[in-house]
Amino acid sequence: MIELKDIRKVYNLGKVELEVLKGISLKVEKGEYVAIVGPSGSGKSTLMNIIGLLDRPTSGTYKLNDIEVSSLSDVELARIRNKQIGFVFQSFNLLSKLNALENVELPMLYAKILPKERRQRAIKALERVGLSDRLYHRPNELSGGQQQRVAIARAIVMNPAFLLADEPTGNLDTNSSIEIMKIFYELNQLGTTIIMVTHEQDIANHAKRIIRIRDGMIIEDSFVKNRITY
Ligand code: ADP
Ligand code: MG
Repeated sequence: MIELKDIRKVYNLGKVELEVLKGISLKVEKGEYVAIVGPSGSGKSTLMNIIGLLDRPTSGTYKLNDIEVSSLSDVELARIRNKQIGFVFQSFNLLSKLNALENVELPMLYAKILPKERRQRAIKALERVGLSDRLYHRPNELSGGQQQRVAIARAIVMNPAFLLADEPTGNLDTNSSIEIMKIFYELNQLGTTIIMVTHEQDIANHAKRIIRIRDGMIIEDSFVKNRITY
């Protein structure tokens, strides 16, 4: 479970201070599927990076599975992140010199899982996103939608409790976006808690709950009435 209380983030730009998050409080329970929606510059990525333990808030408390995150060292945070949180980004963030299998194996390399098991689990993750016939393709030999599916396979290969996706369909056409939304739907049905940033209402309507952010504050938090399912 994720519990944020009065989270603030201030960037120090020389003489000027920029408050990007202005007291965000929210709870996300296991099994939820949340869309975070808001205009460009409203603080969505900053919030996602804090939730994903990639960044620390300036003030406020963040409890992840009842553990207060601010009391943990960077090394401890990295360990929790690798085990519990999968990330998907708008720009896929795959390593261009590695093929699909090798990209998906990366998190397991950091976790010191043995080569044979790494390979088996990577193949399984790629099967799950419908890419069993693209194991040895490099990113530039794949379509955008396929690259994003490799990124999802990489994000889920450690069986994370949470999947965080920052504009996962931002670079994709409608058909590829739907493919990604189908995969998210299935993952959530199987128990993965998903938090996804998007500025497209059609994409947000795949979530069970929408949180609207404006200027670093939550202005709406509501359940989706006619959710798109598959
Ligand atoms: P969004 O994802 O909603 O578009 P961001 O969280 O990326 O918004 O950014 C929110 C605001 O914080 C923007 O005005 C951005 O310029 C500023 N910002 C983001 N990261 C930094 C940083 N590292 N240093 C200074 N300002 C930043
Ligand atoms: Mg952003």
